[in-house]
Amino acid sequence: MRVVTVAGTRPELIKLAPLIPLLDARFEHVYLFTGQHYSPSMVQVFLDELDARAPDRWLDVGSSDPEALTVATRDALADIAPDVILAYGDTNSTLAAGIGAEELGIPLFHIEAGIRSFDRSMPEEVNRVRVDAIAALRLAPTGLATWFLTAFEGYDAVSCPAVGNLVVDAWRRHRPLIDARPAPALAAPYAVLTMHRQATVDDPEVFARALAELARVDMPILFPVHPRTTARLEAFGLEWPENIVVSEPLGYLDFCRAMSGAAVLLTDSGGVQEEAISLDIPCVTLRPNTERMETVFLGANRLFDLARDTDLAGVAARAIAEHDARPYRLNPFGDGRAAERIVALLEMLGGGETTVTFQDAPGIVGLEALRAAAATLGRRDG
Ligand code: UDP
Repeated sequence: MRVVTVAGTRPELIKLAPLIPLLDARFEHVYLFTGQHYSPSMVQVFLDELDARAPDRWLDVGSSDPEALTVATRDALADIAPDVILAYGDTNSTLAAGIGAEELGIPLFHIEAGIRSFDRSMPEEVNRVRVDAIAALRLAPTGLATWFLTAFEGYDAVSCPAVGNLVVDAWRRHRPLIDARPAPALAAPYAVLTMHRQATVDDPEVFARALAELARVDMPILFPVHPRTTARLEAFGLEWPENIVVSEPLGYLDFCRAMSGAAVLLTDSGGVQEEAISLDIPCVTLRPNTERMETVFLGANRLFDLARDTDLAGVAARAIAEHDARPYRLNPFGDGRAAERIVALLEMLGGGETTVTFQDAPGIVGLEALRAAAATLGRRDG
């Protein structure tokens, strides 16, 4: 069976890293990179340090333009002619893979399916909903995501198994390397910040409010700046407050090392909210909503609306003070075996048996649910 995995951005490179070698070992596997992200600090560093091999096909699109990504990805998929396409998350590359799969009539497995902020002003939310509608199987990270897909969007539960989130696989797999990295040169306590979403940095008023709120947080804030954010800061003539320690984007290992020593994480990133609960660090999400509500229910994450809320310093202080008193320490994103479950599902397409083993984990599906999901697609040759 020929399987294509499509990636195009930093978070996809990170989260897919644990899956790539398992696919290489079992299938005729083609790793396709669209080139949506292209600067070395957003791409090459992850290929070097994550023990992830280079993609087989590199499309060099060099932008997030949906049309350019769709044309290039569809043409490459037509040329490769896979039996199954895997795509991750909610980027324009994910959508390009989805549209390509639909036009070519090839089954798409959408990894990280079903997460919802219910905020259609976010381009990521629109991409998620569209890709889930195209997908033959929707591989949800949690039971809540499965529930959104079935209760609100009417998909059959068997086609939306909760396999866990590859973020936990990536973190567990690289943990010895992360622990071996030097700590950032900052006196504790310090915070770590990420901020790059359209709603945060594309509006000069919201961006300026964010900087004013961050300036009042009473500790140094390490901020490895996304290229998008630097471009907006310069365009709006804004300046970093004194307590923000700006750096280039970090590699995954250094970034996780910095997060693991932080008192609190301040972020508008999706992946960082998942990593915060996996690393057991308090998190404040700089958005009015999140598609990772599990982290909020469990008291590990709180929302701060940069357009409206005040006193980020107080919210961060409470997040730190109340973190250890949480009644449940469960990681809703699974046991770090999402990659094995995805591979098991692929092996069982057409009634085959799987070569991978894993234990059952709370809230995550077992072998029989994966077998049932595989059976919905019928027999595939090869
Ligand atoms: N990350 C990183 N270096 C940094 C900042 C973030 O390696 O300097 C990682 C982080 O650990 C997470 C991912 O990048 O796994 C998040 O990517 P991003 O914020 O670009 O995307 P999102 O998760 O919001 O889709």
